[in-house]
Amino acid sequence: MFVFSSLTQLARSQSLYTPRDVKEAYKKGTRSPDGRPGPNYWQNKGHYEISVTAAPPDRTIRGFEKITYINNSPDTLIALDYRLIGNIHKPGAYRLGNTDSDYLTAGVHIYSYTENGEAKKLKPQDHDGTWKFIRLNQPLGPHDSVRLDITWHYTISLKSGREGMIDSTTYYLAYFYPRVAVYDDYNGWDHMDFTDEQEFYNDFNDYILHVTVPANYIVWATGDLKNPEAVLNPSCIKKLAASMKNDAITRIASPEETRTGKVTTQNTLNTWTWIASDITDVTAALSNHFAWDASSVVVDDATGRRASVQSAYNDTAKDFHRMVEFGKHSLDWLSHNWPGIPYPFPKTTIVQGYADMEYPMMVNDNTTDDPLFSRFVVEHEIAHTWFPFYMGINESRYAFMDEGWATTLNTSSASPIWEKKKPMTSTRTSGSTTIPSIPTQKKTSPSLLPPTRCAASAMATTPMANLPWPISR
Ligand SMILES: [Zn+2]
Repeated sequence: MFVFSSLTQLARSQSLYTPRDVKEAYKKGTRSPDGRPGPNYWQNKGHYEISVTAAPPDRTIRGFEKITYINNSPDTLIALDYRLIGNIHKPGAYRLGNTDSDYLTAGVHIYSYTENGEAKKLKPQDHDGTWKFIRLNQPLGPHDSVRLDITWHYTISLKSGREGMIDSTTYYLAYFYPRVAVYDDYNGWDHMDFTDEQEFYNDFNDYILHVTVPANYIVWATGDLKNPEAVLNPSCIKKLAASMKNDAITRIASPEETRTGKVTTQNTLNTWTWIASDITDVTAALSNHFAWDASSVVVDDATGRRASVQSAYNDTAKDFHRMVEFGKHSLDWLSHNWPGIPYPFPKTTIVQGYADMEYPMMVNDNTTDDPLFSRFVVEHEIAHTWFPFYMGINESRYAFMDEGWATTLNTSSASPIWEKKKPMTSTRTSGSTTIPSIPTQKKTSPSLLPPTRCAASAMATTPMANLPWPISR
């Protein structure tokens, strides 16, 4: 009895500190110490129907959205917290890093806001930061919903990072629509400033996304394309449908075919419609000269479900000619090995840009002149599908969780790359850098760190500044 009691006390004295907000969540029954949702767990949710128009080289993006926001919490909300991430481009916005004039814009302009059909005049200071509280006309009670209609516009930035102008007729739209921030059971409203460092913390929402572009522009976006017959010519529809049923990699559209009107419907404007459910974000890319490849891979052996893998790129980017192959390997490996959970979405599209950044069902990656390095980076971004997107991690506060897991999964899925290249040479950095092969590191390297950062021999011979480890998000 005494021994048992002493051991219990010892175990208690050695337990990890539990933050007050987490203790409170246990008390309320919304969370459980074993990690499962508590009996009183809840999440709020939004249904978004977003319509945006882009007409390059005009850099103005115009949007209109209808949001139905559902309060599943037991609390009455007197205001809604909005995320206006595009205001990160405004001069004077809080940013963790330096930027230059090509990044700066006037931010997001909201020019109409309606709450349950009642128009409300917003003052400039109501939407000048990356988040803002707007008081509701009527408090939103538990299990009630509010309908919001918002129109806005912004100028896409010349400097392309996670989003922006890839070239004068190729745009990447991300963080592009006003959204209701997360109200959760342990922190309440998420009102951390977006400083260009954090990435995601969003509700699992449902989306209908309409993107209107001129003829001869192709749009790639999160979700299933719901109206291919309205925007694509019959031969492209046929090729795209076939690519979702077999392993062959098919070119859906070449730049020349798009330019000569053989790909898209020849209306003045085409509206592409995408649908995605229970997902934390949507993004879109559009171009009038990117090549488009597609294939698919079985991600769930039990049901035979295939996921589509597509890529959109400048035809001169040699590594992107293999990007669908790399994406297929990633979905296959991650679905069948580790985490061993079938890829939870119907597709992924890898777009050539400048971000090295993941989005739900979308990747925005640089081109490099080393295809194996490009493969390594895209596998990292696709690994983020599970962490944070599938898990819904609050990445704004706990970025180590999604970067840690994605890096671990990525290091495992990419190990054949390292095995094959002993040593591997990257030309991404100035000069070439030798990466020691992984097998010599296995016994001593913590799994969360890249081997080049752990081995004494590597540290001695490889200047940190030249390490070719992906500077990916
Ligand atoms: Zn990452």
